[in-house]
Amino acid sequence: ALVVRHRMRSSGRCARAAALLKELEERCATPLGKLRQVADAMTVEMHAGLASEGGSKLKMLISYVDKLPTGDETGLFYALDLGGTNFRVLRVQLGGKEQHVVKKESKEVSIPPHLMVGGSDELFDFIASALAEFVASEGEDFHIPVGRQRELGFTFSFPVRQTSIASGTLIKWTKGFNIEGTVGEDVVAELNRAIERQCLDMRVSALVNDTIGTLAGGRYYDNDVIVGVILGTGTNAAYVERAHAIPKWHGLLPKSGEMVINMEWGNFTSSHLPMTDYDQALDTESLNPGEQIFEKLISGMYLGEILRKVLLRLANEASLFGDSVPPKLETPFILRTPVMSAMHHDNSPDLKVVGTKLKELLGIPNTSLKTRKVVVQACDIIAKRGARLAAAGIVGILKKIGHDSAAKDGGDTPRMVVAIDGGLYEHYNIFSECLRSTLKEMLGEEASASVVIKLANDGSSIGAALLAASYSQYLDVEES
Ligand code: BGC
Ligand code: MG
Repeated sequence: ALVVRHRMRSSGRCARAAALLKELEERCATPLGKLRQVADAMTVEMHAGLASEGGSKLKMLISYVDKLPTGDETGLFYALDLGGTNFRVLRVQLGGKEQHVVKKESKEVSIPPHLMVGGSDELFDFIASALAEFVASEGEDFHIPVGRQRELGFTFSFPVRQTSIASGTLIKWTKGFNIEGTVGEDVVAELNRAIERQCLDMRVSALVNDTIGTLAGGRYYDNDVIVGVILGTGTNAAYVERAHAIPKWHGLLPKSGEMVINMEWGNFTSSHLPMTDYDQALDTESLNPGEQIFEKLISGMYLGEILRKVLLRLANEASLFGDSVPPKLETPFILRTPVMSAMHHDNSPDLKVVGTKLKELLGIPNTSLKTRKVVVQACDIIAKRGARLAAAGIVGILKKIGHDSAAKDGGDTPRMVVAIDGGLYEHYNIFSECLRSTLKEMLGEEASASVVIKLANDGSSIGAALLAASYSQYLDVEES
């Protein structure tokens, strides 16, 4: 009798787990019709954000980048890329059209977590000292003309209201950064002060978002790059807009007639977004409730956390991991997206990787194959929703710039390249694969043939160095 009861109990658990998964799947569903609504809403919000300051949740920030790298840039330039869990310093010796990048060196430094929520000076001193150390290691392959200052492109991957190409004030922190006293301050001034404290002779000649760095880095090698997207810890996009299509821009019309816009699409929201109770809870418990809703559905900082919440509910309500709830599963952010990705990509017949991760990370021993399969299904639902929404966002941009359908007027559709950077896109293959196939699904065979997606590895750092070259203080001197 005992055995029978046990069996019944376990089949009841399975049914409960299946029901919860089914509910998750339904709530996260992104059928084509819904994706089109999301893309359309994105286009509408883009117009609204360009029309007036504060006109939309999409800030559509003017970057002051009105010319992108051409390939002619020469000289030594530095970049400092701050925005995720790491920051990177880079130097590059540019050799112009013939040689392009003559030599490049970079170094990645991880940011101690306490600095992400500490004081402004502490963070900037930390990065400036790493920069100073890196500059000190400059070898003989790099050359700077005598009497010239070294110039730096500063990739700062948070929403900034730019006041010029090399200045701008922080609007808010995102992605788990929460440093007091920086919002409203000029981040270049903060960096410059820290650079001075290091007694380093260096000047920031371009302040750029990582999306813009990615766009610039992509453009350097390919003239058709017109959109830059980041899918990493956070998510965002930038694109080249016609200056006269920006009603809120009251400055001079740039010579190029173009202006790069930092959309800050992470803050996009719409009633069409498939939100679940897990997402609501994640938002409420976050450092920035009500903000960055699109980002919280898509980006690497959050996917693993959504999964954790789903598994916790399955543990509570369907005893997925046995009679008791594994205590570690209650720890916010214990399940990072790289772990989720590793489990999701497990191809072994017994889902060995899933078993190991559950055991090592969450202290759950001896999971059955059934249980492991449930975990993989949850990964699949969450990751694919994110990837499909990101694809819808890209389609929204293509619509805005008028390239969403193949040659409506019978002419040739121009080739359009979307440069994408970020660890989520680079390492989470199921995610990136799903993004690409969703784009095809949304655009149709013909239109999607002219849209190229390119991984722009490290684009955001090298792009900043290239923009430092484009906006070098010595340029006018040379040109005249
Ligand atoms: C920030 C953006 C950034 C994106 C990707 C978001 O949280 O608001 O400025 O481009 O993350 O790093
Ligand atoms: Mg980055």
